[in-house]
Amino acid sequence: MSVVVGILKETAAKETRVAVVPEIASKLKTLGVRVLIERGAGASANFPDALYTDAEFSDAATILASADILLKVQPPSVTEVAALKKGAVVIGFMQAYARPDLVLSLKEHGITSFAMELVPRISRAQSMDALSSQASVAGYKAALIAADTLEKFMPMLTTAAGTIRPAAVLVLGAGVAGLQAIATAKRLGAVVEAYDVRSATKDQVKSLGAKFVETGVFAEGAGGYARELTPAETARQQEVLDARIAASDAVISTASVPGRPAPRLISRAAALRMRPGSVIVDVAAEQGGNCELTKAGETVVHNGVKIVGPLNLPASLPYHASEMYSRNLFNLLKPAIAAGELAIDWSDEVFAGALLTREGEIKHAASRAILEEPKT
Ligand code: NAD
Repeated sequence: MSVVVGILKETAAKETRVAVVPEIASKLKTLGVRVLIERGAGASANFPDALYTDAEFSDAATILASADILLKVQPPSVTEVAALKKGAVVIGFMQAYARPDLVLSLKEHGITSFAMELVPRISRAQSMDALSSQASVAGYKAALIAADTLEKFMPMLTTAAGTIRPAAVLVLGAGVAGLQAIATAKRLGAVVEAYDVRSATKDQVKSLGAKFVETGVFAEGAGGYARELTPAETARQQEVLDARIAASDAVISTASVPGRPAPRLISRAAALRMRPGSVIVDVAAEQGGNCELTKAGETVVHNGVKIVGPLNLPASLPYHASEMYSRNLFNLLKPAIAAGELAIDWSDEVFAGALLTREGEIKHAASRAILEEPKT
């Protein structure tokens, strides 16, 4: 009996992506598994059922009851977890830090769960790195939102009605999303400068044709990520950044520190020094925002400055976001299936790193610590 891979229609509000696109459903079948998908699962990402020629269709209840492996974009709901077979495997973004209730339910129901956000960011796992694929989508879309919200041209124009100066765009945080925002704003013709606390980003920013803002503050943390700044470093950084923010037509902020609230890089005062009509697109809105004025999921206007706090940007480009995400899932899953059966190498760094729960235990130390914290 071959393994059943189940795919549900995502039920989280405003989620348009699907975990498996038709191309990947076919590839999964070549591994010898049965692919069972909920009717209409890909519809909101523009993958109609008719394209899933290698999948079988069913309803959510049947899929939950028969899946050996459930592939998700958003975390499963607690009700979905309860409907799964004991020992079933769930793979998706699990929001492990933010959802202790879910982690507990996965543990209690004996579900084996892997969190895509915990896949180690090592060279070998680049093709499985869903944080990166979805961050690229977010950065691209953030630059488009900036261009669309700005009441100015992005490129320089030389016209019979005179010359139009290009827009000045500042990108804060030059990780995966920031670099894509820089590249996109450059393609739109803006003059772009960028800043990040990791020194490695300096060359990456320059290679995209943008200027690196020197604040003299660098803060490399563990695993290639940034660390939180000290108050003295923050003050030094802000002195330089405040002036650059004021001089920008659009600021796209993408700064984030894993497991921490987003760093505050744009104070209320700095935002209000921008010219009326300027724009801030705060990609970190979901993590509390890089700008003091950001309201997650809303666009607010202060003194004519528009502050956009988008949520779930990858869901606004669901076709390609789903395509990239499902390739990440496939690349993770492929080595774990042999002749249609589940054959996970538990000692493999990638599986061990992404493992959240197994056999009634929470395997991810940070999630375990959150649940064991004494309640005050
Ligand atoms: P992220 O989303 O955690 O953070 C976004 C950016 O914000 C980071 O570049 C970070 O340095 C920056 N930042 C944090 N605090 C800041 C502050 N106070 N001021 C300015 N900027 C600040 O990061 P990410 O995009 O997920 O990637 C971060 C790291 O992971 C990078 O080193 C990247 O190269 C690495 N990475 C490695 C792989 C791989 O090897 N497979 C894949 C993807 C990313």
